[in-house]
Amino acid sequence: LWQRCLTRLEDELPSQQYNMWIRPLQVAASADGAELTLFAPNRFVVDWVRDKYLERIGEVLGEMQTGALPHLRLEVGSSRTVPVAPAPAPQAANSSTAAPGGPLLTPELPESRTVAPQGEVGGARKHRSNLNTGFTFATFVEGKSNRMAAAAAQQVAENPASHGYNPLLLYGGVGLGKTHLMHAVGNELIRRNPNAKVVYLHSERFVADMISALRNKTINEFKRFYRSVDALLIDDIQFFAGKEQSQEEFFHTFNALLENGQQIILTCDKFPKEVDGLEERLKSRFGWGLSQPMEPPELETRVAILKKKAEEAKVDLPNDAAFFIAQRIRSNVRELEGALRRVIAHVRFTGAQIDIGLIKEALKDLIALQARQISIDNIQRVVAEYYKIKINDLLSPRRTRSVARPRQVAMALSKELTSHSLPEIGENFGGRDHTTVLHACRKVLELRESNPEIEEDYQNLLRTLTS
Ligand code: ADP
Ligand code: MG
Repeated sequence: LWQRCLTRLEDELPSQQYNMWIRPLQVAASADGAELTLFAPNRFVVDWVRDKYLERIGEVLGEMQTGALPHLRLEVGSSRTVPVAPAPAPQAANSSTAAPGGPLLTPELPESRTVAPQGEVGGARKHRSNLNTGFTFATFVEGKSNRMAAAAAQQVAENPASHGYNPLLLYGGVGLGKTHLMHAVGNELIRRNPNAKVVYLHSERFVADMISALRNKTINEFKRFYRSVDALLIDDIQFFAGKEQSQEEFFHTFNALLENGQQIILTCDKFPKEVDGLEERLKSRFGWGLSQPMEPPELETRVAILKKKAEEAKVDLPNDAAFFIAQRIRSNVRELEGALRRVIAHVRFTGAQIDIGLIKEALKDLIALQARQISIDNIQRVVAEYYKIKINDLLSPRRTRSVARPRQVAMALSKELTSHSLPEIGENFGGRDHTTVLHACRKVLELRESNPEIEEDYQNLLRTLTS
């Protein structure tokens, strides 16, 4: 009966769901057949299955059974009489080591690496940490915008798990140094105590590892591992939003660590209370320690960061050049690094000295974008003018070629030159659907490739808009 029920559910459910939640269930019928017990490997699966699938399971069983429906029970455990076989190793560590050479030369941050539980075999005392060794206090430039956060991080590195500093939560927009500072604490903890077990991971990694631990029935090892650390660094906790079982598991880990005086450091892209889909109890817990905002750096800090990064890359960056870049690239440190990287590439390629002219050349498009805040309005105006139609034609429902094509071009330009989402762009073009915008972008790309005239129009418009 259960086998037939499984086959049926396998047909009905997306295979990922089936494999994750239904396949691990084991079944045992009572001797009189009046009761059917489903065993799940752990509480999370029990809760999840009860919520999402139990009713359907009952219905399917009902349809396949002629007599009285057995009473369905769901609990943690195993129907096997023999102990559960040794679990397969949880997901292997994808442990490429941090690229040396400093963050400037590292295109992607190692945010998603983790030490996998089985890295700890045999109680070895030497811990291979997965921290980026380039992210230290020494390489972190302090300024008004991050001074408080840096001070708090220093404090935690010197006195981990002290009252009032646990958890340490750093929050703020992208590219402002949250991950850097978090690693700096970890690196300092290890420098002071080489045996300290410091584990860094991105919250998405935590979620993925937890799910595979559930699937592989290694959730207990998973728990034990995360509870055995001296410091747990979890990056970008906003990704926990909406993932209830992960939040549940994290909540327990969190409590266990706090009770045992182990340090927790978290980052988030906004103040956690403002993250939708995060449980209230987690939000309030996150606030138990110290929360520090990180702001975009002001001009002087941007200059100092550029000078420091140039020095690390052994490139001479004159002050006026640093100011020139810092005045134009204002959003965050990651963009600043990107700009400097381009300038350096340009220097290496041309063999020239860094001066304003070279920077202008190397950062042409970036500077144009920043200098002139390109808005959808602006694009519509320029496009309408170029094709000699009215702006209203771009917003109207009319579908004649003479207005439909310019409209598509304007949408594609909006996608390319502004940071508006597809729905926002659609909204600005007379309330069109985001799929219409997507279609326009694809169409324009296709036309530009097949039709040199359209490519020329597009380039002309790009130039007008960004010069
Ligand atoms: P976030 O995690 O806030 O998105 P990151 O910590 O990844 O930002 O920082 C982005 C890049 O900018 C990293 O390469 C980091 O080293 C660098 N960075 C950020 N802030 C600073 C700073 N104050 N001093 C030096 N480098 C910084
Ligand atoms: Mg980060």
